[in-house]
This record gives sequence, structure tokens and C-alpha cells, in this order.
Amino acid sequence: MLENLKKEVHRAHLVLEKYNLVAYTSGNVSIRVDNNKVIIKPSGVPYDRFKPEDLVIVDLEGNKIEGDLKPSIDTATHLYLYRNLDWVNSIIHTHSTFIMVFAMMERSIPVLCTAHADVFGDEIPLTEYASVGSEAIGKATIKVLNKSGVVILRKHGALILGKSLEDAIKKAIFAEEVAKASYFALAMENVKPLPSEEVRKLYNQYHTRYGQSK
Ligand SMILES: [Zn+2]
Repeated sequence: MLENLKKEVHRAHLVLEKYNLVAYTSGNVSIRVDNNKVIIKPSGVPYDRFKPEDLVIVDLEGNKIEGDLKPSIDTATHLYLYRNLDWVNSIIHTHSTFIMVFAMMERSIPVLCTAHADVFGDEIPLTEYASVGSEAIGKATIKVLNKSGVVILRKHGALILGKSLEDAIKKAIFAEEVAKASYFALAMENVKPLPSEEVRKLYNQYHTRYGQSK
């Protein structure tokens, strides 16, 4: 069932690989379907062997509905967030390099440039440390989540929450771009954040006037 959506979720994983946000088996993408089902990556399948039909469908409590393989080790995290955040319809988890640097250094990413303000409208916050494989990461995420929709998981990686699959993909790509530029800026001295009033203005403009009207 849901073959076309599985193809979309499969394609999203390949986009992450193309942008070097994931490697070998790491990272995962999920989407919420019909409010009560989630399509998610199987655990430990390398990207070069991964097929759309390998994707697993579970309900919001984690019971498997369809799929021959075990779902991602991060499934409990995804499901906790879907159950608690109505606006979230897609979740991406990565260990992308520059996000990992901030995770290792236990630092959030301040708003240092217009691109960060445009897309995220706030700093990218840092969670407390939480172990993989349970709801703990979901709980830690909700504690610090802001309008950026992205958190840096302390000593781990990133979680990206989207209102749609495309929204999550875009944020995953831009989060790594922002982390990369911010890392180099912070390595120099005295970089100052953008004033918060300007961040608000840029974010509102980007989300109301940027791009083609539909
Ligand atoms: Zn991870």
C-alpha cells in the first residue's frame, strides 16, 4: 500500500545522500500519512541497496502495519514527535558533518546571517543529551524546539521537523549549510548575531514574499 508515497520517501533519502547529509546507513526520513500511519526507513539498510519497497509502515504506537524489515532504531523518537506535534508531517534525522561539530561542541547555532534568518527565523537550539532508541530524544527535542523546526541533538546529530516532506528536505539541506558557514565564522573572532528585530523581518518576508506564488 501507499506505493507512490514510499517512492517519495525513498527519493528523499537519495536527496540527503546527494547533499552528503547521510553516509552508508546513517540518517532516516519519515512521513505521516492519513494522520495515523508513518512511513519510515528500515534499520541498517545501506543507501546503495535501499529500495522503495523496503520502507516500513507503522502506526503511531509503533505497531508494524506493513514491511518485511525492522523499522529504524529512531522510530520511537519519530512517533513521539508525531503524537505530540500536530503540525509535523515529516521528520528527517541526519549526522551531517557541520551539524555534528556543533553537537560535539554542545553549542546551538546563533543567527549570524540573512540566510539563517530567512529560513529558520531563530537560533538552531541544542537539546540535552538523550540515548538513542527510545522516546527520550523526542522529549528532549520538544523542550527546546523553536520556530526553526530544527534541533541539534547533543553529542549526536540533528532532527529536522517539517510540515511536509519538501519542507523537511529543504530545512535539512539549509541547516547543514548554515552550520558550515557558522562554524567558520565562529572560528574567527567577534562575530555578532543579527539583531532580533531584523531576524523577525527577514523571516516574515521570506515566508510571505519569496519564491513563485502558487
Ligand atoms: Zn542518529
